[in-house]
Amino acid sequence: MTRPDRTADWLTIREATDVILGSVARLDAETIDLLDAAGRTLATDVTAPRDQPPWDNSAMDGYAVLAEDVRGASKADPRRLKLVESIAAGEFPSRDAGPGEAIRIMTGAPIPRGADSVIRIEHTRVVDAINVEVLDDADAGRNIRLRGEDLREGEIVLEKGALLRAGEIGVLATVGRARVQVCRRPRIAILSTGNELVDLDGFAEVLAGRRIVNSNSYALAAACSAVGAQPVLLGIAPDESAAIRARVEGVIDRCDALVTSAGASVGEHDVVKDALETLGMNAAFWRVRIRPGSPFSFGTIQRTGQAPLPVFGLPGNPVSAIVTFEILVKPAIRAMLGRRTIHPPTILVRVGRAIESRAGLVRFLRVRLANADAGLPRAELTGNQGSGVLTSVARADALLVVPLDVDRLEAGEVAVAVPLQEQDAAQIAPGF
Ligand code: AMP
Ligand code: MG
Repeated sequence: MTRPDRTADWLTIREATDVILGSVARLDAETIDLLDAAGRTLATDVTAPRDQPPWDNSAMDGYAVLAEDVRGASKADPRRLKLVESIAAGEFPSRDAGPGEAIRIMTGAPIPRGADSVIRIEHTRVVDAINVEVLDDADAGRNIRLRGEDLREGEIVLEKGALLRAGEIGVLATVGRARVQVCRRPRIAILSTGNELVDLDGFAEVLAGRRIVNSNSYALAAACSAVGAQPVLLGIAPDESAAIRARVEGVIDRCDALVTSAGASVGEHDVVKDALETLGMNAAFWRVRIRPGSPFSFGTIQRTGQAPLPVFGLPGNPVSAIVTFEILVKPAIRAMLGRRTIHPPTILVRVGRAIESRAGLVRFLRVRLANADAGLPRAELTGNQGSGVLTSVARADALLVVPLDVDRLEAGEVAVAVPLQEQDAAQIAPGF
């Protein structure tokens, strides 16, 4: 007799993601100072008001000349030119460059009309106040940066949905955006449930051996901030429907999503679910083919005059909570932010040691990325992979993915991993 598959009605990550993304909407925009915009998401396309660079300019400190005057120049056969002008950065040429003439020019300064080359200073020799010799023709026809080669007037230079990093901020400054329209940061309410929990102000209880720390609220708040959302901490509710309801009720209209943690064990699950259902939640699913974190649930609470509130029910185990947030909650937050790329980022790695898994679930193993002699970084497990072993995440650079129908990854095999934020110990590219 075959054992019934108890995972039969669990959603795949893709199915779960489709349901979730079908239930979240992009938030509205706000206008902020450019200096505050790093890490935010652009809410509108941005066009260039004029060409950048605004004029043909020099890529070198040297002499603007006509290529035909210097072709064939060498130390043994220097070409003597007449020095007719000097242009510093911020100055404009007062005359054109003619045959037999050289114009001293600094990097970035406008190229005088007539010149088609800038000879770097190292390839020249000053003869006297009005004569200069070119000793090399390597720069003939070179070292001119053309007007508009970076940005063209009227061109879309950044698209809505772009994450604003240093490069994007620089481009926004270049096109004159002192203020910039970005998507509002989603407010994510975070509720932990469990009679065994205390917050850090109750740490004496932990030292006394009576309670454990509500580490999930802290970790999830950090994960929210990292993806560009604003955490709203609702604290801890005991495992009682009324208490949970009381914590949540007041914030339903004032946040963009609710994340609960724990209450995933049989019995407790019903307590959290009941509490939310009395507040009008429609449960969409309650299990996903993911390990750690399969008791992940999702639903929505209808609101008047507002989009329905997405409710993510995370498992209580600290590793499960972080992994499911990375894989199933962050895409929803990126969608609310209007981000162009919403799915978890992936990289390729080489598996350090053979790994056994269970087909039918996608496994996310915590790995450190080690420097490989050549090619892909090597993924090494960060020790005990138990879903309560939080240090396995703290020490990890990435989550190694064992796909749905794979029950073994061989040592040396190439696999996919999801990098975690800023990596802390990885040395992926040696020797640069
Ligand atoms: P549960 O989902 O309620 O069955 O909890 C699973 C495990 O996670 C239990 O060992 C809980 O004590 C632990 N846990 C639940 N909530 C938290 C939390 N907020 N912070 C840290 N550990 C938690
Ligand atoms: Mg519990």
